[in-house]
Amino acid sequence: METKLRIAVQSKGRLYEETMELLSEAGVKMTSVKRTLLVPSRNFPVELLFLRDDDIPESVAMGTADIGIVGLNEVLEKDKAVEVIKDLGFSKCRLSLAIPKRIEYNGVEWFNNRKIATSYPVILKKFLNDNNINADIHVITGSVEIAPGIGLADGIFDIVSSGSTLVSNNLVEVEKVLESQAVLIGSSKNALSSEKQAILDELLFRFDAVKAADGKKYILMNVPREKLDEVLAVLPGIKSPTVLPLANADWCSVHTVLEEKRFWEIIGKLRAVGAEGILALDIEKMVL
Ligand code: ATP
Ligand code: MG
Repeated sequence: METKLRIAVQSKGRLYEETMELLSEAGVKMTSVKRTLLVPSRNFPVELLFLRDDDIPESVAMGTADIGIVGLNEVLEKDKAVEVIKDLGFSKCRLSLAIPKRIEYNGVEWFNNRKIATSYPVILKKFLNDNNINADIHVITGSVEIAPGIGLADGIFDIVSSGSTLVSNNLVEVEKVLESQAVLIGSSKNALSSEKQAILDELLFRFDAVKAADGKKYILMNVPREKLDEVLAVLPGIKSPTVLPLANADWCSVHTVLEEKRFWEIIGKLRAVGAEGILALDIEKMVL
């Protein structure tokens, strides 16, 4: 039987969409078996094991799955024998302490002898220990943010992304404890077989190519030959852009790659020095 690398992924929730998108952009197509636990790819030697995100670190530590995709917050909270192989750059959030906004906050000592509600007791305990704070940790799963309002706790330790949940519960973020994002994890005890390691290496190579293309545009434009030097001076950091002849010998075509966030600034300059017929295309992958 063909060796398959088994990847534990979240079955539904905030990680699911972007995990599937990353795999798809890396050319890993899934058979469309909906809602079964274990789904093989139809064109790449991997299979996906769909789990709750809480169970992903352990499944990798135990070897039920070879690797997993999960939030760094879950990795640190579960404290299993796993290691981060790669930061994946999506599902970014942070774990923070927050308190009712009417309260005057004078530093982390405020939490001494207070009650803190959280779903992340392990990470919180470590932070409190590191800061010599002695507080009472109240573990609740879900809707942590309502705890201070109903008198269940003095403050909370929870996931924050935009902060709008805090605002609507009259809370204010006072300590940022952990920056989290989706990560690829592997076992820190069991080494992969050489066949599985080769599959993982190919996958990582493809993830890099997807990431390199992220936020970049492929730009083509027509430039009068006499303006070529001025146009090239405007293009940032390109060692040697592609310059192709056109049927009209007074003109040429220049191709290059731009950061999307600088697009309008640079396009403005290019037009000012005489570039015309500018096309911008999405880049799917970039192999550097
Ligand atoms: P499961 O049913 O799998 O246990 P869950 O309810 O525990 O799911 P989700 O809400 O789907 O978890 O969040 C999964 C992960 O996504 C979190 O552990 C965190 O890493 C990240 N995350 C959570 N909230 C946000 C957010 N608002 N913005 C970005 N990322 C987030
Ligand atoms: Mg969960």
